[in-house]
Amino acid sequence: MEINQLLKKGVDMIKDRKYGNPVLEATMVLEELLNVDRVHIYTHGKDGVSEDVVNKFMEAMEKRSKGYPIQYIIGRKEFMGLDFYIREGVLIPRGDTEILVEYVLRYIDEKYGDRRVNVLELGIGSGAISLSIAHYNRKAKIYGVDLYSTPLEVAEENRIRLGLDNVSFYRGDLFQGIEGLNMEGKFHIIASNPPYIPSEEMDSLQEEVREYEPANALDGGEDGLAFYRRIIPESKDYLIDGGLLIFEIGYDQGKRIENMMMSEGFKDIKILKDLQGLDRVVYGVME
Ligand code: GLN
Repeated sequence: MEINQLLKKGVDMIKDRKYGNPVLEATMVLEELLNVDRVHIYTHGKDGVSEDVVNKFMEAMEKRSKGYPIQYIIGRKEFMGLDFYIREGVLIPRGDTEILVEYVLRYIDEKYGDRRVNVLELGIGSGAISLSIAHYNRKAKIYGVDLYSTPLEVAEENRIRLGLDNVSFYRGDLFQGIEGLNMEGKFHIIASNPPYIPSEEMDSLQEEVREYEPANALDGGEDGLAFYRRIIPESKDYLIDGGLLIFEIGYDQGKRIENMMMSEGFKDIKILKDLQGLDRVVYGVME
């Protein structure tokens, strides 16, 4: 079969999905299978494709037609200009999360310049946040904690692929993960994109997310704020004076999390909006 015919077949199979981009997705899968770039696909439409590739491609389109996320099919997602390996069991990095990373990088630059800072990330998933901070600021020393083994495996694989030696990952329940490292009062920054979807809204997430992404990376308890409620008070034991606590948050959680931080004594609390104009990040400084 020719590339063009195969693509058209694939597009037809996934074109009725509500969320997605059939032409782009079919092309991405074929790029991956043929190990070529997009330009090659578009300029070699008449090339023949082996039966093995046809079968693998059809299998992938079949999965996608049932809502399986394209990023798990191709096994990667770009984040902060870096290529992250991902698989089922880790949350797919979201573009909105770059807002948090960009803020942290700018903050380190402006406040600490070339000095070495310690950063703690709670809940690492694929490692996208920890590793992109580490990549763009080689002087930073990053500690990442997760409770689950798949994120720890995937993040470590990404660390090796990106060739970063300024990041270490630890297993544990939030701050328990770094118990015994003697890091109390030593973090310049604590960052987290915790699960924040209210439990009762889990059923109404789009199929891609609801059926295939890890619920334990999404479900934030009854009001979605369970992790903020734990992290905010505990973080005070681990931050330096003047240290920064920064979170990704749900679009309607800004005010409530701001209040939680305020009542724990954090100062200079600000909310950053995403490209849709919705609250996405909140941060504050421990005095
Ligand atoms: N932004 C994700 C979503 O809505 C949620 C991520 C999270 O709970 N931390 O799919």
